[in-house]
Amino acid sequence: MAKFDNSFTDELRQRLSLVDVISRRISLTKKGQNYWGCCPFHNEKTPSFSVSEDKGFYHCFGCGEHGDIISFVMKSENVDFKTAISELADMAGIKMPEIRQKTPEQKKAEENYIQITEQVAQIYQDLLYTNDGKIALDYIKKRGFSDEMIKKYRIGYAPKSGIISSKFSTCKKDNLLSTGLVRMGDYGLYDFFRDKLMFPIFNAHGQIIAFSGRSLDGSEPKYINTTETELFHKKQTIFGFNFARDSIHKQNRSIIVEGQIDAIQMQNHGFPETVAPLGTALTEDHLAILCKSNRNIVFCFDGDNAGQKAAIRACVLVLPFLRDNSEVKFAFVSGGKDPDEILKNHGESAMRKIIDNAVPLIDFLWDSINKNYLTNTPNGRTQAEKFLVNCLSKITDKILQNEIEQEYNSRKFNQWHKWKKQKYSPDIELPDIDNMTINVIKSVVQTYPELSEKYIDFLSSLNISFDEDAPKTDLSLKEAEKFIVSFNLQRYIQKLNIEKKKILSEELNNSDTISESLKEINNKIAQAQEKLDLLLDMNNK
Ligand SMILES: [Zn+2]
Repeated sequence: MAKFDNSFTDELRQRLSLVDVISRRISLTKKGQNYWGCCPFHNEKTPSFSVSEDKGFYHCFGCGEHGDIISFVMKSENVDFKTAISELADMAGIKMPEIRQKTPEQKKAEENYIQITEQVAQIYQDLLYTNDGKIALDYIKKRGFSDEMIKKYRIGYAPKSGIISSKFSTCKKDNLLSTGLVRMGDYGLYDFFRDKLMFPIFNAHGQIIAFSGRSLDGSEPKYINTTETELFHKKQTIFGFNFARDSIHKQNRSIIVEGQIDAIQMQNHGFPETVAPLGTALTEDHLAILCKSNRNIVFCFDGDNAGQKAAIRACVLVLPFLRDNSEVKFAFVSGGKDPDEILKNHGESAMRKIIDNAVPLIDFLWDSINKNYLTNTPNGRTQAEKFLVNCLSKITDKILQNEIEQEYNSRKFNQWHKWKKQKYSPDIELPDIDNMTINVIKSVVQTYPELSEKYIDFLSSLNISFDEDAPKTDLSLKEAEKFIVSFNLQRYIQKLNIEKKKILSEELNNSDTISESLKEINNKIAQAQEKLDLLLDMNNK
């Protein structure tokens, strides 16, 4: 049988959630680490079909069916391997590659590659503890790395003169070139990394697939990474993931920081679930990999402008991954510091405070919109609205999308479209409120305590007793709020009209000064009426 390149099926497994795919056919409930449902392959009434997202397989304790995401599609839809793959590729939104079998030569090449990077890492490690490597060792020690950490992360030193091209002279040139560790120049092979502090980059299985080198003489760029190779794809590699994987599972969340050193320090000071993107920005692939274990992420960014921008980018990127059980938060390290410095200067508890105070995504997004757009102008609100609509469209869970939309609508309603608080003149007596309205207000207050808190000034001005129990209202929270707000407006307009009458009667006595107040009150009435019309119009939709 023709086989797909393993890396493609791996990518599918990485991109797609097994639970999502199976949930399209049967309903699953989370119990403990696994999801359970009624088996689609045999008849049953009590669930014995279990799905493990982490392990990537399902198992039925009733009939013994067992498999992964690909076999699930094959069996449940009765299609062949190729069709299943193509369907999954569609779901993941990625293109099907040409069918190709991994040749024995390719397999051999991969083995060679890993063998070389493994040996190179060892050479760099050894060099760190020589005279040549002293500057690198001093630097990393100064950054607070213990010998144990240096050993664990296999940190090393690439010498000024280069070493790989000569040490591996017996090795096949192509094999060496394929690792990106050497380049071909006019005078033969030369080392890509020279005079650098070296961090190996591991794949999820802990094999070294690339390196990241930090400059030691202050030259820019601070970090250079191995360029893309057959085995190293920057966009799909998360720094520290191989070390963090189990903890991400155990802690049921991941923390994403901006830099590699930050990630290492976090992992070793109480936050083993921390990872970092590789020098470049965060990608969808990174999130897909992390979200396979769980969808709880704390993004930790610098508090400066660049950090804010990066956070908004991450926020937009993570939206398609949101589910009703995901908890995505944003933490900021202020004062131009990074997690590494916080840990070093203020300790783990200070860092924990920052992580614990992370803001939920929904609030972060709302705050950012209000910070970035002038929501006190119609144009600004329009821009903000467009950005928000675009964000909401990225949420794939439709029910969640709807809920978040409603939440924002009510925030917009209260913040962007609120009118100036008006003071009632105490000497104006308003007509009594009819009983039906009183009953609606009572039930709303009874059903939604959050509303009574929010509109306490207005509600207490009504002189209604809320002591006795009222029946729950059929109105949704949004409708209930609109009811209160529109009633508030109606009362306000009534008051203005009474005031206007008063002015008119006084105008007969003193015509010069009063016509200004009349103009003003007419304006106020028109504005309030416009708002009320808009509100009632919204109510009808
Ligand atoms: Zn079964």
